[in-house]
Amino acid sequence: MERQVAATENLSKVRAAIAAAEREAGRESGSVGLVAVSKTKPVEDIRPAIEAGQLVFGENRVQEAQSKWLTLKSETPDVQLHLIGPLQSNKTADAVALFDVIQTVDREKIAREIAREINKQCRSPKLFIQINTGSEPQKAGIEPNHALEFIDLCRNELDLDIAGLMCIPPIDENPGPHFALLAKIAATAGLKQLSMGMSDDFETAIAMGATQVRVGSAIFGARESR
Ligand SMILES: *Cc1c(COP(=O)(O)O)cnc(C)c1O
Repeated sequence: MERQVAATENLSKVRAAIAAAEREAGRESGSVGLVAVSKTKPVEDIRPAIEAGQLVFGENRVQEAQSKWLTLKSETPDVQLHLIGPLQSNKTADAVALFDVIQTVDREKIAREIAREINKQCRSPKLFIQINTGSEPQKAGIEPNHALEFIDLCRNELDLDIAGLMCIPPIDENPGPHFALLAKIAATAGLKQLSMGMSDDFETAIAMGATQVRVGSAIFGARESR
């Protein structure tokens, strides 16, 4: 129970910090959305956040999300669920059926499968392309120098409606240049939405134009490693 009270208090603090960062950056109040990242956390931890008015959540695994959110979404149909982890192609149908936003379109194969499922299911989750701004070999995402070509493929060949870009900067680097790079690619491609910034750096991301931040541990507490 105490942990759940803490989550509600943390949520208020994060919302206040987002509002302060918007003001500081001279941005319109409410222009930055909060995706509350509930991965690894049980439904008992998530419900109090929903009751406190948080309606946008992020999960990084399709199966875990199904086990928690089929119920939670039926209780609160207004909830919006974002996929923020890598999508395996055999999970694409499930992901298109469950998620309202897929932030991790990160390769051609997945883009093609998503396009196929959208046509098949008549369901259109909002789509973000993940850019590997640090060109890290172990990290998912499109290389920055292939981004425009990939965006073009998604839009023109696959007829996908791309809302914006997302990135996860390298863990040991100053995130600022990565956020700037993401913003620059989005501006060049005429994309308006930027998903960037997590618990440790969402204020920097807001200063650099984030339209949504993905915050987990600052709301729900540290995660056990797995
Ligand atoms: C886990 C995760 C987050 C949230 O990270 P915190 O540091 O706990 O805020 C944000 N984005 C992605 C893609 C994640 O996997």
